[in-house]
Formats: sequence, structure tokens, C-alpha cells
Amino acid sequence: MDPESLALDIRRYFGNFLGRDRHCHSAHYPYQALVLALRDRLMERWKNTSYAYEAQDAKHAYYLSLEFLMGRALNNALLNLGMGETTDAALRNLGLDLEELIDVEHDAGLGNGGLGRLAACFLDSCATLQLPVVGYGIRYAYGMFRQHIEGSRQVEEPDHWLRDGHPWELERPEHTHRVRYYGRTERHTDTRGRVHVSWVDGHDVLAVPYDVAVPGYRNGTVNTLRLWSSAATDEFDLGEFNSGSYPESVASKNAAENITMVLYPNDASENGKELRLRQQYFLASASLQDILARWLQNHGEDFSRFAEKNCFQLNDTHPSCAVPELMRLLMDEHGLEWEEAWNITSRTMAYTNHTLLPEALEKWSVRLFGQLLPRLLEIVYEINARFLAEVARRWPGDNGRLARMSLIEEGDDPQVRMAYLAIVGSFSVNGVAELHSDLLKQGLFHDFYELWPGKFNNKTNGVTQRRWLAAANPELGRLIDARIGTGWVTRLDELRGLAALVDDADFRQQWRAAKRANKARLAALVKRDCEVDFDPDALFDVQVKRIHEYKRQLLNILHVIHLYARIKSGGVGDWTPRCVLIGGKAAPGYFMAKRIITLICKVAEVVNTDSDMAGRLKVAFLPNYRVSAMEIIAPGTDLSEQISTAGKEASGTGNMKFMMNGAVTIGTLDGANIEIREEVGDDNFFLFGLTAEEVEATRHSYDPNLLIEADPDLKRVMTLIESGHFNQFEPGLFDPVIHAIRSPHDPWLVAADFRAYVNAQDRAAAAYRDGDRWTRMSILNTACSGKFSTDRTMQEYNAEIWKLAPVAASGG
Ligand SMILES: *Cc1c(COP(=O)(O)O)cnc(C)c1O
Repeated sequence: MDPESLALDIRRYFGNFLGRDRHCHSAHYPYQALVLALRDRLMERWKNTSYAYEAQDAKHAYYLSLEFLMGRALNNALLNLGMGETTDAALRNLGLDLEELIDVEHDAGLGNGGLGRLAACFLDSCATLQLPVVGYGIRYAYGMFRQHIEGSRQVEEPDHWLRDGHPWELERPEHTHRVRYYGRTERHTDTRGRVHVSWVDGHDVLAVPYDVAVPGYRNGTVNTLRLWSSAATDEFDLGEFNSGSYPESVASKNAAENITMVLYPNDASENGKELRLRQQYFLASASLQDILARWLQNHGEDFSRFAEKNCFQLNDTHPSCAVPELMRLLMDEHGLEWEEAWNITSRTMAYTNHTLLPEALEKWSVRLFGQLLPRLLEIVYEINARFLAEVARRWPGDNGRLARMSLIEEGDDPQVRMAYLAIVGSFSVNGVAELHSDLLKQGLFHDFYELWPGKFNNKTNGVTQRRWLAAANPELGRLIDARIGTGWVTRLDELRGLAALVDDADFRQQWRAAKRANKARLAALVKRDCEVDFDPDALFDVQVKRIHEYKRQLLNILHVIHLYARIKSGGVGDWTPRCVLIGGKAAPGYFMAKRIITLICKVAEVVNTDSDMAGRLKVAFLPNYRVSAMEIIAPGTDLSEQISTAGKEASGTGNMKFMMNGAVTIGTLDGANIEIREEVGDDNFFLFGLTAEEVEATRHSYDPNLLIEADPDLKRVMTLIESGHFNQFEPGLFDPVIHAIRSPHDPWLVAADFRAYVNAQDRAAAAYRDGDRWTRMSILNTACSGKFSTDRTMQEYNAEIWKLAPVAASGG
């Protein structure tokens, strides 16, 4: 663990293992050599952690998720291992620069946005809390696409993140499993009259695991993220092979390898594609077989204590095939009766819902489901028959309720409702913020809440302060350490101690200096990637997140246009210079989201080239928003834009990263914004807009055109867009956007919240002009962010759902 040994190992990996010499000028190989040397130092702890879990026969939780948005691993590993300074010294001896090597690493972008990043933060907190939790996911060969802007339009490019190798992972072919698709089922009755079902004539695919270490914070614990990769079996189609169709027989290899080729880039929407269902079943089946194989090794075929020792957390409905798949494995492979198998399944599954948007609720056509997974469909039907019998006993004669609650939605093309399958199969159903959990009980899942009120609970999301404050913002971290000590790294509530320092002028000055340095770092990123100059003394107003109508980047850009119009008309008294940064990816098939990106880029072009705007307003669209970009963005932000239509953002986690880094939020009463405002107080939060209740009430009588006519500012903004001011050479380009704003059926009520939003922005600008006042607000936001650590979130999942005992790793 000393710099000399580390330097020696890096040199050895570089020269011997990787075979490079002094003619190698790419930072990539020194990076790989460093990671391999660090991985060696994780190995002993990794093994000791699993031995400790084994020795205690510890209960485990498994976090099943189609997405893990891990980002980069190097800096995080150095922080958690406490090896930052050692590594820095070792590299300096070798004439290398740590910062440069950190920057070489490609983000592991195996997720779309909040849901996948949440899974990554959960793993960090579980390892830090020494909880026996294993993450199970998919090793996509292509992660989230890379986004370029060409001619103001989003262009997607595949993200072949594994091309240069991924030195953090460890292939474990000895834990390979087979996953079956297609075919049919057969029944036979044994001599004792018991019916056995087998799934025959299917196509098998291999699931090969790759393990990634998840180090806890300086505690000796290293947990595991196991990612499955698909591979063809070596069995050829003998019929085709013998009839001379060798290429056709080899071609089936491709189909198998396709399963884990690419992440579906849709955030908050699904499209019923067969390959996606294959991925979902692949994850569920491989993971459950893996867990059952370990159970068999330690306990034999006795499953009586299985439910006491295992718990599965389903990250949204994506892995909910796990419910019928566990039933299948227990019955068809291990000989349990239905009742025993159901008892185990329904006592081990727990489901987290992540969205209130009806279009995001997963459904699969019964026809497709039955073709691909014939045995699973039979089990789903049986679960449904027994479930509906229970509903009928509770509400005799209520056929409407039976149809509403059925796992099968009837119609021309009947559908399997995956959320209902997950609820029926689970003992716990949770939302991800107080408001969201309440709305689930009142709306989407009301019937199920009436049947099983005890199943429903809330677990407000969080983020890990290790990555999002300690590692991303060392400048501020050092200042906090100097004043209140380092306890906050594992007990974020201790940040409360900063509140007492707001009246300390020295401290405020240091806080501002740290923020200014971080703003300079962000300005350099904006300069490099957008070719726009941001002045670090201006208000940095930032909205980064997936582009979606419900998140209302459109409302943000309407405000920018309003500021532009104000300056043009000479309304520049008491001006607060402002730099507006917007970033995020649109799903490739999401037309409106892409058009909104184009509008942002076109407005930026007009604003940034107008000399009247100089020193007053700048706008940039940051391409390819991702975890490693957010690590620079959050520390450099003054004003955090969290402006979704109330009742639509389940929680949000970007809001928490900003708050932790001393940004002040301008936001609606939506998701976790409500809890953020509760913690920090109304004085330190710029609230605006309709409530979730008012949103629902407004829908029936919404007349945006009337609102536009009645508000001269909004009218002026609309007139500018409609006059083609931002699309001189492309007439009609923004007609779809204009129609959306003017439609009485606009679900996102952009025009309804415009006035309140502009007023809140004016309050924010005034507050920023008073530097001391703003600094106090900034400090208080960080000071009050303790609740939003995933350490707290994980302790709640554990206390109320998983009930795991922490296990100290030996030598920790
Ligand atoms: C935190 C994070 C998100 C989630 O942001 P929201 O504002 O909560 O939607 C999405 N993408 C990345 C890269 C993140 O780091």
C-alpha cells in the first residue's frame, strides 16, 4: 500500500503484462497498468468479504437492475481505498499525472439516467454500510449512445466502451448459466400422480458473468456487481449442419450474442420490442439460477429457509420476469409444489416503482410473451387465476374490479401488465419520494393499495456523497473538513454543523472562493465542448438531465428568450449577468425532445452572437451529458433547475447532487424537491408553479392561448419564436413546439407555469446580486442536504424491507 510498491507494480504491468515501452505515448496504457495494480489491492479484501458473508451464512439482498450507470471507477476506488495520495506519489515518481489518467477512463454508461445512477449510488452505500448486497445487471457491449450536436441537431453515435478493454472487470466463466427461449412445454405424470412440466425444443443461450468490485469507504468491504454477457452455446443446428448449411448453422451464434449487445436508450418509455424482453428475461433467469446454485451448494435441496436468507429488489418492472422465473425454477427444476414455491417467491420479491407516466408502464403482448417464454406465460396465467380468485372473495361480484386488476389486459392484442405482476409477486412495493409514493396509492395502484395497504411504502432516493461531494468537489470537501471534520463522508447529517458558520465572514469568503474555482472548472468544460465563454462571476443557471417534455427544458428556454427580449427592449436596469447551461440526451425516437434540443441550440446561437447580450446573457447546450460531466457541473452550479410539471418527476436525484454542492434550487413542488425544500426552508429555495393537485384540476379548463394573450412577456416570447427569429433559414422548424405550447391538451402545462417561473427567476437574480445573501443560501443548502445520502436510503431499505445484518470484513 506504499507508493514504492505501487510504482513497481505499475511499471511491471506496463512493461510486462501490457508489453509497452518508452515509445508508448498514449496515457491509456499507464491508466490500464494503474488499474491492474489497484485491482490487485482490492482482491484480498474482495475474497475476505465473501468469506465473511459465507462464514456467517449472512442473509443477502440482490439488486436486480437492467441499468447501472457507474460512470468512471478510478477516482472513486482511490477515495474509498484511501489511496489517493499514495497513488499520486507513485505516479509522480513515474513521471505520470493522476488527473490525466483519471480523464482517460471511459464512463461505464450502462444506464439511461436517474434510475441507473440510483442503482450505482445504492451499491456504494451498501458496501460502505457493510451490507451483503449483490448487484445483478447486464454487460452491454454498447452503453448509452454518445451525443453530438451537428447543425443544431442531436446525432447519436454508438458507445463501444469495451473497445480498449475494461480492466476493472473479472470474467467468471465457471459461473456460466443457460437461459432458454422459445420452444414449448410438455407435461407428464409420475407414478405418484404428480404432474411435471418441462420446457422443450427451446434455443439456449449462455449467460457469462463479469464481476466488478464495489469497494466500501475505507472499511475493508468489497461487494460485487455481477454483469451478464450473452454467448452462443457450441451446439450447432445439426440438421442444417448436415444438410450443408454450415453458415446458417453458425449464424445462430449472432442471435445469441445480440442479446446483450446494446442498452435501450429510452428513458421513461418502453416500446414492446422483443429484444428488450429477451434482455429482461436473460437478467432475471441468469441471476436467479446463480443464486439458487449457491444455495444448493450450501444447503442442498432444502429450501425451507430460503426466504429467510434472500431478498430480491426489483429496480422498476424491468426485471419482473423474476417472479414467474423463480416459480419455474423452484417447481420445474427443484420439484417444489406451487404453494411452497409461491410462499418463497412472494416473501422474497420487493418492487420499486420509478414512474407515474402511464406510457412508461411496461406491457408485453401476450402473443410475444408466450412465443418467447412459453413456460413463463403459463405460470403468469396461474398466478393471475389465483390472484383474481382472491379479489373475487374480497369483492364478490365486482367484475369491473377484476378486469381492472387482472395481470392480463384484455383487448384485440392482450397484454401482460408487468407492474401488476410485480405487485402481486412482491411483499413490498415502494415509491421513491413521499409525494410519488402517495400518488401511487391514490392513483395508479389504488386498487392494489385497497387490497394490501401494508405492502406499500416510501423510500426517498438519495445520492452517494462519496462520489458527488468528496470526490467531485475536493475544493469544498477540504473546506468542510477543516471546519467540521471528516465525519460527513459516512454520516452526511453532520453537514448540519455548517449552518452555524453562515455568520462567519471568513468562512463565507472561503466558500465563495471554492465555488468560484469550481465555476472556472465548469467554464473550461463549456469552452472546450460548446465553444462558449462563461464568465465565472455570472450566475450559473443549469439544467442537466434527460430531455423530456415533462422535465420542461422548454419552460427554461422560454425564460431565456424572455431575458433576451428584455435586454433587446432595454430593460437592463439591475441586471444580473447569467450563464444558462442546458444538457441532456433525447431518446433517438423522441421527436419532440429532439426538436427542443434544436430550439435550445438555435436560441444559443442568436443570443451568443448578439453584442447587446455581452456581459449579460450567455446560453450553451452541453453535448453528451453523462456522469463524468456531472462531476464537474454540479460543483460549478449556482442555480439548479428542477422545473418538472408537478406530479410527474418521481423523485429526481440530480436535484440532490446540486443541493449537496451548494447550488440553490428553483423548482416546482414535485418529487424530492418537496423534501429538499422542507429540509432547507422556503427562504433558501425558489418555489414556483402549480401543485400536483392544481395540475390535475387545470387540465379540464386549460386555455394556453388565453394565458399568452394576457401576459405581455409570454406573448412577446411566442411572437419571437413564431416570427422565425430563431430559424431564419428553416421556416416551420419550430411549428411543432409552438403547437405543443398552444394546445389546450398540453399535458405539461408549459404556459400555465410561465409567469410564476419568470417571477421566481427574478427573485433568484435579485438574491444573487447580494453576494453575501447568496453565499448564505448556498452554505445552508449543503448544510441541509444530509437526508439525501443513499446511506440513509439504504438504511431504510434494510430496516424495513431487506433486514440484513451488517457483516464486518476481517481485517477491515
Ligand atoms: C443524476 C443523474 C441523472 C438524473 O438526473 P435527474 O435530474 O434526477 O433526472 C441523469 N443522468 C446522469 C448522468 C446523472 O448523473
